[in-house]
Amino acid sequence: MRHLPEGELNLVLARHAVDRDYLSRSRPDLFDELWQNPLTRVLAMYEGQVLLLETEGRVQPALRLLEVDAVPSAQLRVYLGKSVDASANEPAQTPVVLAVLSKNAADLVEPDSAKWHNLRKSGAGLSDRDAGLFTQALALANWHDTHKHCPSCGTPSVVEQGGWVRRCFKDDQETYPRTDPAIIVAIVDAQDRILLGSQGVWEQNRWSILAGFVEPGESLGAAVIREMFEESGLVVEDPQYLGSQAWPFPYSLMLGFSARVSDSSPSMVADGIEIEKLRWFSREELGAAAHEMLLPNRISIARAIIERWYGEKLVSATETGA
Ligand SMILES: [Zn+2]
Repeated sequence: MRHLPEGELNLVLARHAVDRDYLSRSRPDLFDELWQNPLTRVLAMYEGQVLLLETEGRVQPALRLLEVDAVPSAQLRVYLGKSVDASANEPAQTPVVLAVLSKNAADLVEPDSAKWHNLRKSGAGLSDRDAGLFTQALALANWHDTHKHCPSCGTPSVVEQGGWVRRCFKDDQETYPRTDPAIIVAIVDAQDRILLGSQGVWEQNRWSILAGFVEPGESLGAAVIREMFEESGLVVEDPQYLGSQAWPFPYSLMLGFSARVSDSSPSMVADGIEIEKLRWFSREELGAAAHEMLLPNRISIARAIIERWYGEKLVSATETGA
């Protein structure tokens, strides 16, 4: 994994090493050309899961990309682009196509369900190329899965432009893959403590920083201030942008911020709807308690923001297996 300078976010899913090669998307025979190219490799996906390489029965932190003949049919194909660098198994400039498979097709490719892996568990260990490919592929597959009809007239739409457009035959309307922006915020107080919240629907002792979707017609800064007030009752100020990464569950973009509690803020109160508990943590308190807490997944921007504030990596109960 890339090492980032101190103070920067270590964003697992923001890594990428693929040229998206957007100009090729408009080639009318793109997939025919790709299928005739012996270098083309296929990232097979079934219910958001992909295959990883195995060596002597041990799973490796690398995507198992397939030759085109190994994937006879697909519900959806998307041209993801060309790899920038060589990997252990593929040369640089390898074209990669996402193939979303039906249950039957997935069984033909790999019948052992234990060999299909999801991004939450495998993402952190992957290379820049593979983390980027998996993230891009999952966001696109999830978007297509829920946007199969024209938004104007409801006619089933067809996939064009290498998988990057859906078009309605009836009124010619084109729909492009969307991503939903959400802000996520490290609120700190005058003592430089961080605010963590726990949602009612979570397991006991799962904590994270607060987040919410940007609403239509709203700036990112306004969304930070509104969402933090709604969830915590606190008035925050001076939102500082920290970084972003895709969050393909199903197709969000997480925009990380820090913000300070205003001197004139009312007292903290959990909204009781989304956030059940709120608590300030000093570095000493979080360091002492982390191993008993369920902190956000290592692939999340929430974890990266919390560790940036803390100053080093934390080991939570999620990783100790407790
Ligand atoms: Zn239509």
